[in-house]
Amino acid sequence: MPSHPRPKALDRLCKALSRLPGVGKVTSERLAYHLMQVPEAEALDLASAIQEARRDVRICSVCFNLDQEDPCSICRDTTRDRTLVLVVEGPREVAAFEESGFRGLYHVLQGRVSPLEGISEKDLSLQGLVRRVKEGDFQECCLAMNPDLEGEATADLCFSALKKTGVLVTRLARGIPAGASILQVQQPILSDAFQGRRKFQS
Ligand SMILES: [Zn+2]
Repeated sequence: MPSHPRPKALDRLCKALSRLPGVGKVTSERLAYHLMQVPEAEALDLASAIQEARRDVRICSVCFNLDQEDPCSICRDTTRDRTLVLVVEGPREVAAFEESGFRGLYHVLQGRVSPLEGISEKDLSLQGLVRRVKEGDFQECCLAMNPDLEGEATADLCFSALKKTGVLVTRLARGIPAGASILQVQQPILSDAFQGRRKFQS
């Protein structure tokens, strides 16, 4: 039986899709064949959306957030609390905090230290943060890394870099997620939750 390999172009598409995070071989093939079936305009719209985003979205030279302008709209917004900077791992976290109603400024680290992935301090925008803290009028720098091992290591690194500047360094409260049970959470979380307790307000 002669084998019928996939058309080269389709193979290239599968390979390109499989390089996306969270997309394995099976999903990449499903997506590629799907794109062959939908109307051509719909498939090409995806291609042009990628093109447009790559062309028009840039990294803010101040906070390293993604925006269509530099400095970004958040950095230019004079109605925000400019004494408070929230340090996050990536631009997706900025979007999440924006939705939560946060009205201070941000600094996007562009990642987190990860020895396994070969990401170290020099790959982050940490020096940019230190410079902003030294030059700006921030009174508080809140570290909002993810509460896991790499996030913790990144937060420690930020703290050591920032403590010489004299700025107040805080971190997000950690604790028991709403809906969880005290008996189910791990001991460090319980201890953090206790330390981060606050006045009862009804
Ligand atoms: Zn910015």
